[in-house]
Amino acid sequence: MMLKTAVLVVGGGPAGATAARLLASEGVDTVLVERDFSYVKPCGGGISSGAFREFALPENIIRKTIDKVLIVSPEGRKIEISINEGAIYITDRGCLDSSLRQMARDRGASLIEGEFTGFERSGGSFISCVNRKENGVSIKIQSDYLLAADGITFSVGRKSGQPRLNRLYTISARISPFDGDTCEFWFGTIHASHFYSWIFPSDGHASIGTGSLTPQECPALLQNFLMRRFGSRIEQMMQEKLIDRPRIFPIPAWKNKSFGSGKIFFLGDAAGMVMPVTYEGIYYAMKSGQFAATAIIERKPEIYRKLWEERFGNRFMVMDRFKNHFFRDDASIERWVGVHRSSAIQELAMKLWLEKEPGTHKLFAYLKAFGSLLTP
Ligand SMILES: Cc1cc2nc3c(=O)[nH]c(=O)nc-3n(C[C@H](O)[C@H](O)[C@H](O)COP(=O)(O)OP(=O)(O)OC[C@H]3O[C@@H](n4cnc5c(N)ncnc54)[C@H](O)[C@@H]3O)c2cc1C
Repeated sequence: MMLKTAVLVVGGGPAGATAARLLASEGVDTVLVERDFSYVKPCGGGISSGAFREFALPENIIRKTIDKVLIVSPEGRKIEISINEGAIYITDRGCLDSSLRQMARDRGASLIEGEFTGFERSGGSFISCVNRKENGVSIKIQSDYLLAADGITFSVGRKSGQPRLNRLYTISARISPFDGDTCEFWFGTIHASHFYSWIFPSDGHASIGTGSLTPQECPALLQNFLMRRFGSRIEQMMQEKLIDRPRIFPIPAWKNKSFGSGKIFFLGDAAGMVMPVTYEGIYYAMKSGQFAATAIIERKPEIYRKLWEERFGNRFMVMDRFKNHFFRDDASIERWVGVHRSSAIQELAMKLWLEKEPGTHKLFAYLKAFGSLLTP
């Protein structure tokens, strides 16, 4: 059996579902394959209110509205920041993905629950193989474009001979019950390596986790973080099974390489589009879906990368350098956190993070605050 379509999107997360939604809205024949409609990706589900508005996301997926952030330095200095404009919404990640897919379906995209297993080129088009989940039957889909929105799985990338994405590793668990209304970011190499440890409260529970360069280190780092955050209470919390089994999951490291070529585009995590320092990826995944859709609708595949770089190139490059400069040891992180004691810098940092507006004006104003700290 052979289906034909203009665009095949592999992966129904934020990147793929957004691309499918926008393509179908403009009447482009689009098929999206997602291997598991009930999959819930390990994720804090945090999305800025600005991103929410921009993509008209439905409010019923919001589980908590956050307007306070706590940053704790390696030495234990605490900085509490109130978000005066906008907010962070903690969403239910499973609901976010299914809502985005539903929006794509409502606009006319065809959705198939099945696993992409490979493709070959035929003339100017692609013939992809997909194993349907319901009956295991393999189908072939011919398309003019192939959008790889399959996240860190990188199945299209592997089949097209792309080098594996650079990655870091997260370990996260759910604590319940948990009552809080502040997103916490804890820094210190004893519990987070080139990363931060976090608590993101949701409705009645919280996502807690940390990150590292290697998966092997993750369990011990999480244990250290739990000890630091909860002290001696942790033993009882463990006995009462208030913390579920942690999951280790990779997260891509930005390298600015994998946009694809010709009519294969890599989107979101499959292109490594996770912001260095904050490790936020949902918004950038949705934006990549939007840019890919624009390039296809305008019949100018070459502008996909250009649109991305014009909008985010500087920001990712600067934040990547920032991460390499400050996240190498505790003393450097201490200095980085210290700069955020100024309320003007706090406000700027929150605006940069949450408002997502184009331009580099705020980015360079933020950088200026670090002055001599940034000179080697
Ligand atoms: C622990 C953790 C916490 C995070 N917290 C946040 C946060 O709070 N806020 C934030 O903005 N970002 C966060 N991120 C990052 C964010 O989760 C990702 O950047 C985002 O999900 C990327 O979206 P995507 O659509 O590119 O990929 P994904 O969301 O990974 O979607 C890929 C989809 O492709 C499907 N797929 C894979 N292979 C195949 C195949 N062969 N055939 C068919 N389908 C396939 C998968 O099932 C999946 O649904 C976090 C990441 C981690 C690991």
